[in-house]
Amino acid sequence: MTNINGRFFNLKDIFDRLNTEYFNKTISAKITWGRNVRNGRRYIRFGSYTEKDNIIRIHPSLDREDIPSYFIESIVYHEMLHKVVGGSIVNGRRRVHTPEFKRMEKIFKYYGVAREWEKSNIRKLLKNYG
Ligand SMILES: [Zn+2]
Repeated sequence: MTNINGRFFNLKDIFDRLNTEYFNKTISAKITWGRNVRNGRRYIRFGSYTEKDNIIRIHPSLDREDIPSYFIESIVYHEMLHKVVGGSIVNGRRRVHTPEFKRMEKIFKYYGVAREWEKSNIRKLLKNYG
């Protein structure tokens, strides 16, 4: 589970490309295929960022040729943002998807297209998830 090269997507390439295009190469973090075990199956999650280990994990079910690259890029971009934005405490609870986070999330060029694709393909995505 530590390989960077999937069968179809190379996470390090995607990370480097996004880092150059959106973050002026300022993000240093590890990236790997992997499931976020702590979140179990309570809700669907395609990526995670763990601050303690400074690692982004992308769910291996996304490594398929029928997944558009802008979709996987939008997931990687989202997790990279977690490193940049961090969390804030709102009403005593730690929030990570803050208004600032959401504003920055939409800067990604294919944000809208990726969300639309996710909505129309959620069944397909869930079938391979787990
Ligand atoms: Zn998030």
